[in-house]
Amino acid sequence: MTERSTIVEPAREIDVVHDTDVLVVGSGPGGLAAALAAARAGVEVTLVERFGCFGGNITTVGVEGFAWYRHEQTVEAGGIGWEFEERAKAMGAAVPESQSLSYELDSEGFKLVADRLVEEAGVHPMLHRSFAAPIRDGDRVAGIITESKAGREAIRARIVIDATGDADVAHRAGALTRTTPVEHMQAASVMFHLAGVDKRAFLDGVRADPQTYADWASGEWQIETSGKEDTMFSPYLGKPFERAIRDGLLPEHLTTIAGTWGAIHDTGELTYMNLVHLGRIDGTDPDSMTTGEIEGRRQAMLAIEALRRYTPGCEGARLRNFGMTIGIRDTRKIDARYNLTEHDVRNEARFDDSIGIYPEFIDGYGVLILPTTGRYMHIPYRAMLPHGVRNLLVTGRAIGGDRIAHAATRNMACAAVAGQGAGVAAAIALRTARELDDVDLTAVQTELTRQGVRHR
Ligand SMILES: Cc1cc2nc3c(=O)[nH]c(=O)nc-3n(C[C@H](O)[C@H](O)[C@H](O)COP(=O)(O)OP(=O)(O)OC[C@H]3O[C@@H](n4cnc5c(N)ncnc54)[C@H](O)[C@@H]3O)c2cc1C
Repeated sequence: MTERSTIVEPAREIDVVHDTDVLVVGSGPGGLAAALAAARAGVEVTLVERFGCFGGNITTVGVEGFAWYRHEQTVEAGGIGWEFEERAKAMGAAVPESQSLSYELDSEGFKLVADRLVEEAGVHPMLHRSFAAPIRDGDRVAGIITESKAGREAIRARIVIDATGDADVAHRAGALTRTTPVEHMQAASVMFHLAGVDKRAFLDGVRADPQTYADWASGEWQIETSGKEDTMFSPYLGKPFERAIRDGLLPEHLTTIAGTWGAIHDTGELTYMNLVHLGRIDGTDPDSMTTGEIEGRRQAMLAIEALRRYTPGCEGARLRNFGMTIGIRDTRKIDARYNLTEHDVRNEARFDDSIGIYPEFIDGYGVLILPTTGRYMHIPYRAMLPHGVRNLLVTGRAIGGDRIAHAATRNMACAAVAGQGAGVAAAIALRTARELDDVDLTAVQTELTRQGVRHR
């Protein structure tokens, strides 16, 4: 179709299927933490998710490296992010991560961890519903309309927390958002996990030729580090693909196939294979994502073939599974009351309205700084407050900030810090009958402390 053509959708009456105090839309590390925190702060909470499980990128994409930045000196917020790892360990859904002092979450097992946490906190779960439109009452968001197998349904809420990752609610409600131009977006990835790997042979191969962060820079990527990262071990896989290109197994232009493995299991599973990087994929455009899904799966199979031929222990490897959706790193961010800056994340920013700390971990847009020094920053509450729309907070990777700030705040543990802050702020605002932009921050910080979050 070349010319733009439109139709008019008729207005219709929609059933209100649910009323709640706090409605969280999206259940990734940001939304899940927000829902749990608000419920634990004593208000009624509903969690809406478009897919059939909670966990966002952890469970639906297969991003298992929750805290791979953690080293001896790393200082962290604790709170619900920490609890994700601890509960996963206790439920047999985590294994030691390859390059840090953290545990890698099992993307399947974490579905059960999230179910359990949601049930225990008394959060009302509403899976298989996509946010379709906000319910507006003047400049207030008063709930959302969802689309599902049941058609359109309305859910009314006193406060809405947008944790969709893409600021879907804020955008549709008319809040100002910024989308990275597609040519500058971080690459999208089709993630996969392998079975049938000989663990001992694989680890022998890793030990025989250990890779560092400096090795990344010898490939497709230019990476700025602070220097200290260059000699540190990285679970980087680049050589098999360079060889595959030389041998004609991979086409010459596919120099973007390279990246990291996550964990090797006793059962022969090699998981969190972050090897396929697709440029110019727009996570707000389903046509673009369709292209990315199909091309990503094609490239993943080429990568597996190269691993089989050139990586010790992988000779008998086979695809165990793809993530159930393409992984999107970078789309809309809100223009917030305060937008974090590169200067903030590089210089241990301090804010009076801090809702949690985050270590100096910057990963993205060609920068990698690992928090090996004890340096950390504050995450300000105002970065979650959009302009022009009331009763709405935006949390997770869509909080306000510039590119390099996003390279820090997009990370899952930071999304969880922000989410917990948003959930507590929403609960305190309701309990004290104050507007979100006038919430008692001392009360918010007191409740966060009670919930085990370090915010100073
Ligand atoms: C391939 C890849 C590798 C990565 N590697 C790492 C890593 O190693 N470590 C790290 O810390 N971070 C990593 N990241 C970044 C990190 O995964 C995300 O930035 C983080 O998950 C953001 O959390 P979130 O809660 O904001 O959003 P998400 O995890 O994206 O969760 C958003 C949730 O909202 C739901 N949703 C979206 N739209 C709607 C809608 N309209 N209606 C209903 N529900 C909706 C989604 O289904 C999803 O469950 C990676 C990202 C990708 C894509």
